[in-house]
Amino acid sequence: MEYEGMVYRPPSEAYSLIIQATIGCSQNDCIFCNMYKEKRFRMRPIQDVLADFREARECYNSIGKIFLADGDALICKNEYLNEILKYIREEIPECRQVTCYASPKSVMIKTKEELRELRENGLDMVYMGLESGNAQVLKFMKKGATPDEMIQSASKIKQAGIRLSVTAISGLGGRKLWMEHAVDTGKVFSAMKPDYIGLLTLMIEPGLPLEEKIRSGEFELITPYDNLKETKLMLEHMDCPGCIFRSNHASNYVNLRGTLNEDRDKMIAKLEKAIQGNLHLKEEWMRGF
Ligand code: SF4
Repeated sequence: MEYEGMVYRPPSEAYSLIIQATIGCSQNDCIFCNMYKEKRFRMRPIQDVLADFREARECYNSIGKIFLADGDALICKNEYLNEILKYIREEIPECRQVTCYASPKSVMIKTKEELRELRENGLDMVYMGLESGNAQVLKFMKKGATPDEMIQSASKIKQAGIRLSVTAISGLGGRKLWMEHAVDTGKVFSAMKPDYIGLLTLMIEPGLPLEEKIRSGEFELITPYDNLKETKLMLEHMDCPGCIFRSNHASNYVNLRGTLNEDRDKMIAKLEKAIQGNLHLKEEWMRGF
């Protein structure tokens, strides 16, 4: 298999076969993200992608899950994706799940019929980064999508029968907008009704464009305790029955996991305990992406 540059995948795809259908991210402007900054976005030639699959087939007897990298594989034309999905169906029949990242733009340019076609051909779930439900935060962070576009994209994905996993980032509102970020993100999640929610916590890696905004005073980081208050407020505004909520990523100060809405109060109580100083927070040196 030929991998170009660093390859990222959602935590739940740790044991999946990863094949790059695209290189980089079609958006690539977000100032809090460094994942694909060194890559020029493009689709890989289909024969290269299929060659990777053939090689994987020769190496592994059983492939249970497949994740199509990089940043936004859903943006590829249906013709291209269908060829990949057809190969998987015919040559890797034991595969139980095929997933990829999806941006709101990649969803909006596809018709409902095209999304349904991908579902019928084996695309099971997409991962989407909401990051924040607050319009001002999304604009400042150059996410390239509005909260309304996020909600519309989620609705199209769900109508096509594709499962949806959405992430947001705690701390992204900074000191100025942490309350708005918490409340609006809770509300947008409630409107999107994803199957899974993942909440990460903002980390500033060296060279991140956001670092410059911190230096200039345009953006102020919140404290770990304010992060917990923010997550609590977000959960209080979340109404997503049946959704699996996880905030147990290496970047998070306190690990949370539960099913909404039934476990919401339990998770809020754990956060309250941590806010009161009765629960140990993850040390800074232990946090990571
Ligand atoms: S956050 Fe997502 S959409 Fe934004 S640059 Fe990073 S990978 Fe691309």
